[in-house]
Amino acid sequence: MDYNFHTHTWRCSHATGTEEEYLVRAIENGIRYIGFSDHIPFRCPDGYESVSVRVPVDQAEDYCQDLRLLREKYKDQVELYIGFESEYFPEQFETMLDDARRWGAEYLILGQHYTKPEHPNGKHANVPTTDVDELKIYAQSLIAAMETGVFTYVAHPDVFRFTGDETVYQDVMREVCVASRLHNMPLELNFYGIRDRRHYPRESFWKIAGEERAPVTFGFDSHDVRSAYDGESLQTAQQLVEMYHLNYIGKPQLVFI
Ligand SMILES: [Zn+2]
Ligand SMILES: [Zn+2]
Repeated sequence: MDYNFHTHTWRCSHATGTEEEYLVRAIENGIRYIGFSDHIPFRCPDGYESVSVRVPVDQAEDYCQDLRLLREKYKDQVELYIGFESEYFPEQFETMLDDARRWGAEYLILGQHYTKPEHPNGKHANVPTTDVDELKIYAQSLIAAMETGVFTYVAHPDVFRFTGDETVYQDVMREVCVASRLHNMPLELNFYGIRDRRHYPRESFWKIAGEERAPVTFGFDSHDVRSAYDGESLQTAQQLVEMYHLNYIGKPQLVFI
């Protein structure tokens, strides 16, 4: 694996390590295409900013500038791209996209950690729920985001932690997998979930992804320097590809914003 477009940095407050530390670790392990995709800065309409979840708005330009300098410094060793992991909040998305472009971002991956903004009463997708309506809202947000055509891929599409009826889960998620194939929008097998033994990758999701021939890619989702290359989780991911006959496409085609 010589690519990874899912890298965080110290700037989002829940990851550690500088941009350069991640970059060096990745290069040393054979990464030739790296994308930084820290959590997109975002201010709620009332001015609230959840800086433990995201890069602060006032650091957005520094983040992009530092990455441009590193791109120049390491240009003979790696192709570096500047991006964000972003939710799709329809009412705010136009602004989020304009801001991302203005700050200097080049691509976005979709990370739908919240179906509505985290403030004042957003609920994280990690929190277990049996609420079918919430599951449907989550799935519809992914599909609507795919339809915008601006995202490079869907990070951890199986992050939503539905603990209700499994057949309902599968019906709803099948729509996501079909949309992924129709829009040619890759779904990411997320290595953070593997190495942290989280509730994802959720095998029942990937079984459907295989059946529907959804395009699949890999992402380290690095939140510390060591995971800027994650060869252990790579083996598990490859086993899942084989087990569920996934349509693994390798390095995703970047969509420039
Ligand atoms: Zn994170
Ligand atoms: Zn994420």
